[in-house]
Amino acid sequence: MSAMALEEYQRKRRFDATPEPPAKLETKSGHRFVVQKHRATRLHYDFRLELDGVLKSWAVPKGPSLDPADKRLSMEVEDHPVSYFDFEGNIPADNYGAGSVMVWDVGTWQPLSAVPVDGKYVATTDDEARAMLKKGDLKFRLKGKRLNGDFALIKIRGRRPGSKGNEWLLIKKHDEHEVDEYDIDHYDSSVLTNRSMDEIAGDEGSAEWRSRPSGGRGKVKAPWLADAIKKFDQKKAAEKKAVGAEQAAGKKTGAKKTSAKSAKAKPTDIRATAEEKKTLNPRRKSA
Ligand code: MN
Repeated sequence: MSAMALEEYQRKRRFDATPEPPAKLETKSGHRFVVQKHRATRLHYDFRLELDGVLKSWAVPKGPSLDPADKRLSMEVEDHPVSYFDFEGNIPADNYGAGSVMVWDVGTWQPLSAVPVDGKYVATTDDEARAMLKKGDLKFRLKGKRLNGDFALIKIRGRRPGSKGNEWLLIKKHDEHEVDEYDIDHYDSSVLTNRSMDEIAGDEGSAEWRSRPSGGRGKVKAPWLADAIKKFDQKKAAEKKAVGAEQAAGKKTGAKKTSAKSAKAKPTDIRATAEEKKTLNPRRKSA
C-alpha cells in the first residue's frame, strides 16, 4: 500500500507548474500533524497526520473545532508527501488545488487505544493506528499550537446515495482542552510566518508582513518546528526563482503569455528575496 501511496498525489499535479513538493516517500516515520488553511475554489482546511512515510489527509470544509458538539465533515483525500508539512504559498491558477495555502497549525500526534483504560484513552502503537484507520475509527491526541487534546476521526458508512465513501467526521473528545464554542475564523494567521491569508495571497514581501516577521517565530520552542521554519525561510527564495524559471521555460504552448507573466513577476520576487536575506542575516546591508 505505501509504495503506491503517493501515486494519486503525483498524478494530479504538474510539478513544472506548482511550487508544491514532489511525491517522495519518506523512509523515516514521524508523528507530526499539520492543518493547512486552503483558499481554493472553496475555502477548506486540510488536516494531515504523518504515518508510514506520508501525510494521511482529509479536507475539512469548516475546519477542525475544539467544541465536542461540532462534528466536522472531513473528506479523505490522497496521501501527501511528508515535505508538504511546511508548504505555504500559492498554487498557480490552472493547477490542481489552485489558491493560497497557509500553515494554520503544526504539532505532533499520538494514536490512542480504541478502548479506554479506566475511562481514559491511552497512547498506543502505529499498528493499532493502522487498524483503526482501516476500520474507520481513529482516536488520537494532538499537541499543536492551536489544536490540543483528544480527537476522533470516524468514517461515515455510505449513507448518502452518490457518496464517494470518503466521508469522515472529525470530532473533539471531552477533555480539558475542549471549549464551548470555537470560532476558527478568529485565527487567520500562519503559525510559520504569522501572515494572514490575504498576505500570503498577495505580495509576499508586503510591508505588513515585513513589519512583523518575528511575531509568530519568537514563541517557537520545539526544535523540529524551528527546523521547519528555518527550512521554510531558506527554501522560499530558491523556490521562487525555480518556479519563475520553470514557468518561463517549461510550457510548450503559450510561451509569450508565460514570459510576459514572469517578466511582470520578477521585480517583486527580487525585492522579496532581498528582504528575506536581510531577515535571515540582519548584518547584511540592504541591496
Ligand atoms: Mn486542500
